[in-house]
Amino acid sequence: MDKRIKLQQGDITKLQVDAIVNAANSSLMGGGGVDGAIHRAGGKQILEECIKIIDRQGRCKTGNAVITTGGNLPAKYVIHTVGPVYNGGKNVLKEEEQLANCYSNSLKLAMENGIKTIAFPNISTGVYRFPKQRAAEIAVATVDNFLAENEQMKDVIFICFDDENFGIYQKLGL
Ligand code: ADP
Repeated sequence: MDKRIKLQQGDITKLQVDAIVNAANSSLMGGGGVDGAIHRAGGKQILEECIKIIDRQGRCKTGNAVITTGGNLPAKYVIHTVGPVYNGGKNVLKEEEQLANCYSNSLKLAMENGIKTIAFPNISTGVYRFPKQRAAEIAVATVDNFLAENEQMKDVIFICFDDENFGIYQKLGL
């Protein structure tokens, strides 16, 4: 496991990093869970930039990522990525690939913006119902692979809000 991957438990809106990642929905208009917390703490500047992005490019596709200011947050930027809604069954491989894309596309966008420290929430494991164990395996493997090819990134933090996710990430060796 790459030593630049760190585990923390708590509220992502409190983190002083270059960028925090938001588990957004395709409208980028905010919502519940971590999305609501980020917009509440970050203030209206984030939503204003999201509206401009939607005007320019339309809805954000599942697995893609866009970047805005961090507004009033301690983080300088917010990277908004749209996780898959988990249905399982015959869609499961596609949903797993989309979840991996959330992590890799967020990291790519971070690199393009000179971001060296970034924190991820447990994308799709709330109202989007992705099984937490599988989501954690995908998240850690995708970030670890990315870091192996990218020297410039300094720290990638997985910040778990709930005890269950925190325990799962600890068991994965973080
Ligand atoms: P999704 O729609 O992608 O499932 P949710 O926001 O419902 O998004 O949940 C994603 C994860 O974010 C969940 O594991 C939830 O515990 C976590 N979460 C909720 N609030 C916060 C917060 N303030 N900081 C970090 N993680 C959070």
